[in-house]
Amino acid sequence: MVKKKEIKMNEVKKDNEKNPSNFIKNIIESDLKNDKVKSIVTRFPPEPNGYLHIGHAKSICLNFGIAKEYHGICHLRFDDTNPGKEDIEYVDSIKDDVKWLGFDWKDKLFYASDYFDKLFSYAILLIKAGKAYVCSLSQDEIRAYRGTLTEAGKESPYRNRSIEENLDLFMKMKDGVFKDGEHVLRAKIDMASPNIVMRDPALYRIRKLSHHKTGDKWTIYPMYDFAHCLSDSIEGITHSICTLEFEINRELYDWVLDSLKLESHPQQIEFARLNLSYTVLSKRKLIKLVEEKHVSGWDDPRMPTISGFRRRGYTSQAIRNFCERIGVAKRDSTVDMALLEYCIREDLNKTALRVMAVLRPLKVVITNYPEDKTEDLEAINNPEDSSMGVRLVKFSKYLYIEQDDFLENPPKKFFRLSPGKEVRLRYAYFIKCENVIKDENTGQITEIHCTYDPETKGGNAPDGRKVKGTLHWVSAHHAIEAEVRLYDHLFNVPDPLEQKTDFIDYLNPKSVEILEKCYLEQSLKDSKTGDRFQFERIGYFCVDKESNSKKIFNRIVTLRDTWAKIQKKNKK
Ligand code: ATP
Ligand code: MG
Repeated sequence: MVKKKEIKMNEVKKDNEKNPSNFIKNIIESDLKNDKVKSIVTRFPPEPNGYLHIGHAKSICLNFGIAKEYHGICHLRFDDTNPGKEDIEYVDSIKDDVKWLGFDWKDKLFYASDYFDKLFSYAILLIKAGKAYVCSLSQDEIRAYRGTLTEAGKESPYRNRSIEENLDLFMKMKDGVFKDGEHVLRAKIDMASPNIVMRDPALYRIRKLSHHKTGDKWTIYPMYDFAHCLSDSIEGITHSICTLEFEINRELYDWVLDSLKLESHPQQIEFARLNLSYTVLSKRKLIKLVEEKHVSGWDDPRMPTISGFRRRGYTSQAIRNFCERIGVAKRDSTVDMALLEYCIREDLNKTALRVMAVLRPLKVVITNYPEDKTEDLEAINNPEDSSMGVRLVKFSKYLYIEQDDFLENPPKKFFRLSPGKEVRLRYAYFIKCENVIKDENTGQITEIHCTYDPETKGGNAPDGRKVKGTLHWVSAHHAIEAEVRLYDHLFNVPDPLEQKTDFIDYLNPKSVEILEKCYLEQSLKDSKTGDRFQFERIGYFCVDKESNSKKIFNRIVTLRDTWAKIQKKNKK
């Protein structure tokens, strides 16, 4: 078992170390220097059996990033050798996601199924060379014959079939004469190899299934280990970068290419996959969440899929920055979700328009403000970027503030609104709480009566008196009503796959909170799906695709890492 190591925020590379080197780039640079390769060709080889997740983003950024950095090219190749599990919907979503991440495969779009004819003829060559045979053991028998890590395997009784018999059987396999599982084509390597992968691995199996590209042409399909290295070789890939679990397959990768004496022999290099806390990164697990309806779909904003992050409001820049920051290592580790959140905050802080929105409204009446008057007050769009300018927000007698910005009996250091206290309304005036109105029956606060000081327009008092709190607000008559969806971690433990019971048991029941009656400043009326904003003092939000006449906003991320704080508190 590879030892897990947590990456802490303070170990993360700083901004001024952009494009850092890593062991893969070192290999590439030395290969270029020594003329081992002329130009770099990489590939991203997804199996179209699900939507891409952020782990795939790491692989995409690495493969396309390296190609870009060294003026090479990166192919997009669908590893579609598994009909039944694969679907054109997944193919389309994968293309969308790679494009959205900002990468371009130019005209280098391929499918392993493009090579089915070639792969078949390579299999024939192996049989003719005495390096492959048709085995008629059952699946279970093959497994039992394979041996264990400490025990050598046993040779199949079919291992010494003649080349003629093998060719005849293999042709019949192709022609659909046999049932699924009746025979497989196996490489003839070494049943006593210390590497289990080398104990006569299967190369082809019978699968009487329609394929999304080749239809019913084939009833046999190549195995990953056969198709992958040959596809790489056919495409002239120079560096075949994959995740660590394929390290033990490298010997077979090389064996196939060497046995066929192929000139194009890509170099397989393994790196550590991305694991992220509080979520799962495995298509099979994610499919379960979708199919059992624990989430609303692949692009549910709580999903760690690229489409989920996109819908939630993440920028591709933030995800690319994240992938750059986590770096590339040879040892498995788990990255803290807080780092990804840091990356999106950092990006949106520079680019997002600031607006005012009240999520849990409490009505405020300014008793000394004229009934029919409204004012347009100037508000800054982004203090980080003056070129983003200013906008006007409406002020009037009736306002909303956040419920938790008012306390009737405040503790000592509460600098927001409470009876007799004065606060500043952002971009507007000082107001002072004069009276609290309650529901006679329930005792609940229904509205707050305040007075304002007309001399404090813009937020400063000419007499120099200070207030500590500044609240955001909206004008009740001008605000638009919206639904806001607040998201939290999908799982309530950092490592849901390492628990004693099924990972589904650790879903966070509070991973979404829906607030149906929120009030947003009028300028958001014309916002469109995908638009992102900072709701001042609250967080970053994005217009969801389910918006109609009523807008729906997804919380992308809070302003500060409240989660870490909660965790700290719980520990105490
Ligand atoms: P999953 O386990 O989620 O199904 P996979 O490896 O089966 O992933 P593929 O479609 O085969 O999915 O992956 C395409 C590429 O993405 C492969 O090169 C794979 O190594 C890489 N990849 C998959 N998951 C991760 C991850 N968590 N981190 C980095 N790279 C990954
Ligand atoms: Mg895979």
